[in-house]
Amino acid sequence: MEGKIKIYNSLNRKKEVFEPLNYPNVGMYVCGPTVYSDVHLGNVRSFISFDIVYRYLTYTGHKVRYVRNITDVGHLVGDADAGEDKIAKKAKLENLEPMEIVQKYTNGFRDVMKIYNAIPPSIEPTATGHIIEQIQMVQRIIANGYGYEVNGSVYFDVEKYNKDHDYGKLSGRKIEDLLSNTRAELEGQSDKRNPMDFAIWKKAEKGHIMRWDSPWGLGFPGWHLECSVMSTKYLGETFDIHGGGMDLLFPHHECEIAQSVAADGSDPVRYWMHGNMLTVNGTKMSKSLNNSFLPHELINGDHELLDKGYSPMTTRFFMLQSHYASTLDFSNEALQAAEKGFQRLMNAVQLLNKLAHSGNNDKANEAEINEVKGICKQAFEHMNDDFSTPQAIARLFDLSKKINSYHEKIIDLNSLDQETFEYLKSTFNSFIFDILGLKDESASDGSELLGGLMDLVLDMRKAARTNKDWTTSDKIRDALNALNVVVKDGKEGTTWSTN
Ligand code: ZN
Repeated sequence: MEGKIKIYNSLNRKKEVFEPLNYPNVGMYVCGPTVYSDVHLGNVRSFISFDIVYRYLTYTGHKVRYVRNITDVGHLVGDADAGEDKIAKKAKLENLEPMEIVQKYTNGFRDVMKIYNAIPPSIEPTATGHIIEQIQMVQRIIANGYGYEVNGSVYFDVEKYNKDHDYGKLSGRKIEDLLSNTRAELEGQSDKRNPMDFAIWKKAEKGHIMRWDSPWGLGFPGWHLECSVMSTKYLGETFDIHGGGMDLLFPHHECEIAQSVAADGSDPVRYWMHGNMLTVNGTKMSKSLNNSFLPHELINGDHELLDKGYSPMTTRFFMLQSHYASTLDFSNEALQAAEKGFQRLMNAVQLLNKLAHSGNNDKANEAEINEVKGICKQAFEHMNDDFSTPQAIARLFDLSKKINSYHEKIIDLNSLDQETFEYLKSTFNSFIFDILGLKDESASDGSELLGGLMDLVLDMRKAARTNKDWTTSDKIRDALNALNVVVKDGKEGTTWSTN
């Protein structure tokens, strides 16, 4: 592998050469989901972005310890310090134990990550599994003079911290502006000395189920605290990469920095990375606008804004066609284009893997060799340039054209020497399967038996539908869904894929 990887660092708003503290080891922390509802596509995009970072660093020889947490307590609805716990609220709604909610949506989240072929993290710690460490961090913050207790809650003293350090260094916000913006919110929060102070430990009010004993009485940790505790516990007081969605930059990540500095005196993160949002037809994806999709709705085409369903790999490919730090707009047209593009790449890789070089280098042509090598090299350079998947994919399309020309004998395959041909083959395969993490959904595991059985089952389903025997056709579909086989009815007939 040639060249150094550059990362756009949100901390100083510059693209910097990535130099891990302890090469080849890399510590990477990504804020995980709050497991109180189904993961939506905006989250999926964010996690796919960091899956790419993880895959590419691994591919380039780094040994990445990838930590992604599960928030199972402390994330409050609405007002960050006064709302209801998201999980406890959902538990009441669904008449379940909070831990049942946590388990249910954790399972769902992992299923979705698997469907989209995101590699699981090395460590997936939970906030409730680290209560003691969180209490200890609160104690260190208080001992260093940056936290104060009022009525069983502990708050972070932002103004005091800002006198000694720089609160706002990540978000670029000035404390004076924050003060004037938050002044109005003080109402009903008179426990705080200052409206921008944030809770690092909250007293549990009567009826609050998720609570633990602490030096300040029964309570629960503030949401920002868990990430500071779990990232540094597993990756060290200072580690390489911290990722998350743009919406977490302030206040969540700003508070993480402040907590770590206040408790341990170390700036926790060297490279802050933030993924951007999804929009739908140009507007922000949101539940209230009824334009946010859940993964299964997108797969089944089960939403009024969708003209049909799109397979997980089409969606993954679609997401990778834009840079992680840019907004990405969902539209039927864009998804259809991605579906075609993805298919073109899959066709090319199949053709390439069927091509065989004769081993005779007599006809090898310098210009052709240099062109192919040059395109491969560029693809890596794009990845080195802050993981620019859209540009890397454009080079893969250039290579697809080449592959088609060799296949159709428009260009003689022997104009490449054998070594370059093998290099092309390994680069193209590595990019598609290892780096971009795409899967060939049509090939399944290559089993002809499976294909034959699926044809049989789908014929039976078709017959049932023709006879308007919906019970049978639904039974077949549900049984296939239970096996993670997704069946799609489209204009071109019925297709299926496995997750
Ligand atoms: Zn976090």
